Amino acid sequence: MACTDRYVTQRGIDALADERDAFFALERRLVAFCEAVEAAGVDERDEDEAARTYVRMLAQAGLLGLVVPAAFGGTHERVSCRAVCLARQHLARQSGALDTAFVMQGLGSHPLVLSDAPIAAAILPKVVRGEVVCGFALTEPEAGSDVARMQTRAVPTDDGGVVLEGTKWFISNATVAHGFSVFAREGESPEGKPRFSAFWVPADAPGLSVEPMKVLAPHPIGRLTFDRVRVSADHRLGPPGRGLAVAFGNLDVFRPTVGAAALGLADRALAEATAHLASRVQFGRPLSAQQGLRFRLAELATDHLAAQLLVYRAAAARDRDAGTPTMSAMAKLSATETAQAVVDAAVQFFGGRGVLAGERVEALYREVRALRIYEGTSEIQKLIIARALFDEPYRC
Ligand SMILES: Cc1cc2nc3c(=O)[nH]c(=O)nc-3n(C[C@H](O)[C@H](O)[C@H](O)COP(=O)(O)OP(=O)(O)OC[C@H]3O[C@@H](n4cnc5c(N)ncnc54)[C@H](O)[C@@H]3O)c2cc1C
Repeated sequence: MACTDRYVTQRGIDALADERDAFFALERRLVAFCEAVEAAGVDERDEDEAARTYVRMLAQAGLLGLVVPAAFGGTHERVSCRAVCLARQHLARQSGALDTAFVMQGLGSHPLVLSDAPIAAAILPKVVRGEVVCGFALTEPEAGSDVARMQTRAVPTDDGGVVLEGTKWFISNATVAHGFSVFAREGESPEGKPRFSAFWVPADAPGLSVEPMKVLAPHPIGRLTFDRVRVSADHRLGPPGRGLAVAFGNLDVFRPTVGAAALGLADRALAEATAHLASRVQFGRPLSAQQGLRFRLAELATDHLAAQLLVYRAAAARDRDAGTPTMSAMAKLSATETAQAVVDAAVQFFGGRGVLAGERVEALYREVRALRIYEGTSEIQKLIIARALFDEPYRC
């Protein structure tokens, strides 16, 4: 088997050592970058300005290349799920908004890669340079977990393009993006089932309007309304009817990385919690001397490491084309649910200070919540896992 060969031949060992060195080098760059972000002290209260600043900083540091293939100016031959996980873990540890700015460049632009779109060559190098900020527009008021209920329509025109009509909401980067990967219903199959297609739509397309939405943590997000928006044939992402394949293929690449972002938030919460427990004195000794609190911390650290193993296993499998939806679902489910528990416990360890505006754990509490919802809720991940349990043969 090719996989075994890699481990037993000298060439394989060298390749692994090279890869490991590259990952250590990336990690060092991420640590240095996060220190620079900390020093810059970006004000996240203006969510749009913060997002633009973060994209600029990420581009200048060469980190946006991680979400674009080398053929279009990116870092790796194809997007490395492990590298994106490593980046998200570090960036989310620093700031949830910074992590969002990073990953949306990939989530919003990768449909152009997956669909082999002719416009990819024009758009993707600009994504790497931070000149094009991206969004991914799938969710609608009537279509969340049940994507196939989407109502946005693409009416074909004589020149091969379409006219888009409909509404998307909860679209990250809605208020700052230069362009969106958009999914819409386009006609029906011969059996009468709806067909879905994908398009790249510039944010300044006539008829496209944006309304900001406000969520718990700093996050540029909003509603997109398409009022007879014309999209030319060369802005199609794949042939008519392939839209959901592109959307799900995209989520497949990025889903384990949501777990990695959750790991980063939990890393930070654990660090804040241990430092606080060691320094806060009550009843004549540090809180860290209380066995009940030590045991809780030990349990959370163990769950956190278990989740980390699942995330990087799913990412590594994905990188060698051996990933499964079950693996990705387990990784996301485990990491996001664990992160929620870790952050909640950290707030509890801090007592009243845990809910004080301006405390890092208070911000983490707001930042972590949405991860159990977006890119497939925890319940949808359980549906995927449970479905696989009844499949033959069971593969996770
Ligand atoms: C901060 C944030 C950023 C987002 N960014 C984007 C983005 O950039 N692009 C985009 O397209 N979307 C985005 N979303 C939307 C997100 O993907 C959806 O909110 C998510 O898929 C859930 O859909 P919904 O909100 O309609 O909930 P619903 O589908 O209405 O679900 C409501 C509840 O019912 C549960 N449920 C639904 N079906 C089942 C079932 N069959 N069995 C058991 N339980 C079920 C769900 O798990 C959930 O708990 C974002 C959301 C948030 C909060």
